[in-house]
Amino acid sequence: STFTGLGLDPLIVAHLESKMNISKPTSIQRAALPTLLSSLTEDTSSRDVFIQSQTGSGKTLSFLLPILQDLLPLSSHSYIDRSIGTLAIIIAPTRELAKQISDVLEILLTLRLRPAEESADEPGSGPRLTRWLVSGLLTGGMTRTHEKARLRKGLPILVATPGRLLDHLQNTSSFNVGKCRWLVLDEADRLMELGFEESINGIIKGLDGRHRLAKQAVEEGKSMEVGGWDWNKRRRTVLCSATIKEDVQKLAGTTLKDPIVIKA
Ligand code: AMP
Repeated sequence: STFTGLGLDPLIVAHLESKMNISKPTSIQRAALPTLLSSLTEDTSSRDVFIQSQTGSGKTLSFLLPILQDLLPLSSHSYIDRSIGTLAIIIAPTRELAKQISDVLEILLTLRLRPAEESADEPGSGPRLTRWLVSGLLTGGMTRTHEKARLRKGLPILVATPGRLLDHLQNTSSFNVGKCRWLVLDEADRLMELGFEESINGIIKGLDGRHRLAKQAVEEGKSMEVGGWDWNKRRRTVLCSATIKEDVQKLAGTTLKDPIVIKA
């Protein structure tokens, strides 16, 4: 099978090929992409996903590509509203892992969009996606003040370690996560080994609370809907783990709702 056959936008498929020399999906990508690319608008309860697979299997792209495709419609707006805040958060157990994920993400975000006029002959010769989507690392590699300044400007996609993320959720008032649509917990077994269970539960609580407030603001007409973009959707949580040990099951139990389990 091909990436296109799995439901990936041909624009992203072409970008993968030209920038990463990747053209054939791995088995975890074949198993995960159809589910993760399915629309978040469908109000199915089982939208959360547990991905069981080893590192080196290509699991990073199996969650990054669906996030990219889900956020792609943002580029139909003529500008990016800073108040959109953060739409996707990827949590990794260590700074090094977060940096690796962020590096892949940065390559994906260099994608060029279709030109505004429907000239089908030259797909991908339009503006760069980075005009709308910017990613950031939140791992304590920079000072808190510097991170706060970046969050204030708006970081649609965030790759973070649990401690620093929770810190900002609790202490950075301009950190806008009420419209966050994706939460990925990568290497959940290591997150547990490193003792991050409590931080992660705190993060989930923080995200849920902010989402409730954002939803309320939209309902009361205090917050603008960006045309055609429905913010009022439940977040999808994706948990990745190489093993399904007891502690990972426990974390899955508190973070995932009625998850689809994908193995490869
Ligand atoms: P990961 O398991 O996500 O850490 O990926 C391991 C390595 O496999 C990375 O260097 C990826 O760039 C590479 N990779 C991911 N997907 C594919 C693919 N479909 N074809 C070839 N290489 C891939």
